[in-house]
Amino acid sequence: MVQTRLVRENFYCIEDERVRQFLITGKEESILIDTGFADSHVADAVKSVTDTPVKVLLTHADRDHIGGLSDFEEVYLNEKDWGLVSIPIRLRDLCEGDCFSCGGYRLEVVSIPGHTYGSVAFVDWENRLLLPGDSVQKEGPIYMFGPHRNLDLYIESLRKLLPIADKIDTILPCHHECPIDSGYIMKNLQDALALREGKLEGEKHPSLPCSTFRGIWTQFYR
Ligand SMILES: [Zn+2]
Repeated sequence: MVQTRLVRENFYCIEDERVRQFLITGKEESILIDTGFADSHVADAVKSVTDTPVKVLLTHADRDHIGGLSDFEEVYLNEKDWGLVSIPIRLRDLCEGDCFSCGGYRLEVVSIPGHTYGSVAFVDWENRLLLPGDSVQKEGPIYMFGPHRNLDLYIESLRKLLPIADKIDTILPCHHECPIDSGYIMKNLQDALALREGKLEGEKHPSLPCSTFRGIWTQFYR
């Protein structure tokens, strides 16, 4: 059962213990970021808050973010993740620099491939917010195994986000602690570099085909 909390003006977190979505409400239209697992019924949670039409933006297309897609007709997702969507739905591309305004927020798309090839973050410069999907997290795990992930690109993307750290105050990740401070971009980068350099010790995961690598700040499934 998801819980809905107002965390800032016109800005809600919809979450259960597994994953978190964000809803920004406007007078004429609202924006939903990610749709959770199918059994989270995020669309119902949205309807309990607003009856405006809802524009759905996806940070990426892992199944814990797209499970609720069948409740919507159209969704914005970076083209590189379209292949991960298996249900029939109208897809619209989400590209670097695209902007979406709603409820006093203006989200700009920053492409951050790596966690998936089509991963994006949303930055609100005015409100000094970063919504990084799964790509910046405290604790993690950040999934980094399987054919649709790329550690080198992930590291490049964190480097791309680094200069943004000075221009934001708050990071709103889709998993675990939220909010976290902007220092986590650098912290995740340091851990990701240690992972790539083979400096983290791995422990075989009991059920997934990967190992757990614990860094100082976060952990990776690799
Ligand atoms: Zn996720």
